[in-house]
Amino acid sequence: TTTKQKHSFQTEVKQLLHLMVHSLYSNKEIFLRELISNAADAADKLRFKALKDSSLYGDDAELRIRITTDKDAKTVTISDNGVGMTEQEVINNLGTIAKSGTADFLKQLTGDQKKDSKLIGQFGVGFYSAFIVADKVTVVTRGAEAGINEAVIWESAGDGEFTIEPTEKGSRGTEITLHLKDGEEEFLEDFRLRNIIGKYSDHISLPVEMHKMSSDEENDSEGVEFEAVNKATALWTRPKSDISDEEYQEFYKHISHDFQEPLTWSHNQVEGTQEYTSLLYIPSKAPFDLWNRDRVRGVKLYVQRVFIMDDAEQFLPVYLRFVRGLLDSNDLPLNVSREILQDSQVTQSLRNATVSRILKMLEQLAKKDKEKYQAFWDEFGQVLKEGTGEDFANKEKIAKLFRFSSTHTDSKEQTVSLDDYIGRMKPEQEKIYYIATDSFLAAKNSPHLEIFRKKGIEVLLMHDRIDEWTISHLNEYEGKQFVSVTQGDLNLGNLEDAEDKKAQEKASEEHKDLVERVKSVLSDKVADVKITMRLTDTPACIVAGEGDMPLQMVKMLQAAGQ
Ligand code: ADP
Ligand code: MG
Repeated sequence: TTTKQKHSFQTEVKQLLHLMVHSLYSNKEIFLRELISNAADAADKLRFKALKDSSLYGDDAELRIRITTDKDAKTVTISDNGVGMTEQEVINNLGTIAKSGTADFLKQLTGDQKKDSKLIGQFGVGFYSAFIVADKVTVVTRGAEAGINEAVIWESAGDGEFTIEPTEKGSRGTEITLHLKDGEEEFLEDFRLRNIIGKYSDHISLPVEMHKMSSDEENDSEGVEFEAVNKATALWTRPKSDISDEEYQEFYKHISHDFQEPLTWSHNQVEGTQEYTSLLYIPSKAPFDLWNRDRVRGVKLYVQRVFIMDDAEQFLPVYLRFVRGLLDSNDLPLNVSREILQDSQVTQSLRNATVSRILKMLEQLAKKDKEKYQAFWDEFGQVLKEGTGEDFANKEKIAKLFRFSSTHTDSKEQTVSLDDYIGRMKPEQEKIYYIATDSFLAAKNSPHLEIFRKKGIEVLLMHDRIDEWTISHLNEYEGKQFVSVTQGDLNLGNLEDAEDKKAQEKASEEHKDLVERVKSVLSDKVADVKITMRLTDTPACIVAGEGDMPLQMVKMLQAAGQ
């Protein structure tokens, strides 16, 4: 009797597998990075578990990753002594995609290889990338708490099905064997493998080992010696001056599971009353689930270089959920839990420091590299705009990072900062004028702007849904109040010349009868009807009353069913 069970991959996996193999072929060596990255994660997870129960190490406490080849069988094997997987974990982890946004992602794929490979990269490739170079993959794994005969073999040809079978495994951890496709023999070459490992894995804190060069040929597996082929020091613990941009970028890909280069990063090693290291990255592209405010937030927490948890949400406010990276604290206890973090003083000050770092990093990017900053803004600006309501203490700093469309550029692209705006204000101007509507064209063509255009006063053209909300929390910037140009008795203060005022009074007097007639016809629809000097080309427009909710806010609430 056989105890081998057949399983079918989740539909999404089938689609992804097919696309991945075709679209990522030109970058096929990344399979090794992905598998090493998973092995390193497994080591981190074991270390974390062992904080509570050090007996899990058994007599095998030196965590490492090993890569071996068999030229006759044409296989490459990546093995680790990390946390391993139970049968159920294997079925879940290597048979489905648990990520949110998967369906959206698959819908966006077009069949155009170039575009798709970018999208797949953004989505994250992971374990399934093994099938780019292999026509069969065998995984043998034993969970850290499982016995010798509680191990599992997972096997698949990447064609829609996989099998699961119980087996024996002498030691804890996972061993992944790739049966290389014809033509992929380059990955059997020692030199080629060392080269890829150097490129992708120097920053990983545990050794990636291969057979010693000299012992490679003569020895059979008895008594072969291994040596580390990567630097094997956690990147963030190394002196900043020793780390190259490429290393920072590779490390980003490892911890973020992103495929693309980050836009910028900030590495801080802090000593003194508080001791911590932070390494924070801004991705270049928004992930698929950015709009989900409940999505996991990106920083990993380490305590004294021991991995504690992914998604340590206590350290990042929601409006900075796009940031990726890690914090390594010397002040938290190793047995820290989410509950302890929740009301720890250390958490609070680390969070404040982290937020300051991020805002500063963005400010510097804006100064240093306008183009890159614009790319950031186009991807994440709308999320950052949530900040004025969430982070009162920093709202001025956050607002400094904002970019808007304005009548100065008359372009849909949001490039105008509040500082730009203030720099261009009329000498006698005291307020920041804006209009918020649901599209750029509606803003740009609004009759409310006529008087401003005539007088040459710049108006911010807001057309993101969140804008009115953002501004209502901001209220003012650099002591200058925000005023919606749709607001009732628009008092232009010093900007109004006496002529206009007189003309308005005179016209009101002259057209009293007309105004009364309009008022009585519209009596159940409007609160008041007035003669205005605001309009130059348009005969009439609707405005919100002085104390009323701004028009766009009304629309937003209506859309939300209120
Ligand atoms: P990700 O690493 O982004 O979670 P992957 O496709 O790379 O996605 O891996 C899927 C899951 O399979 C991992 O989250 C992990 O739970 C499990 N896994 C993969 N490789 C290993 C390994 N060497 N040891 C233990 N678990 C692993
Ligand atoms: Mg992975």
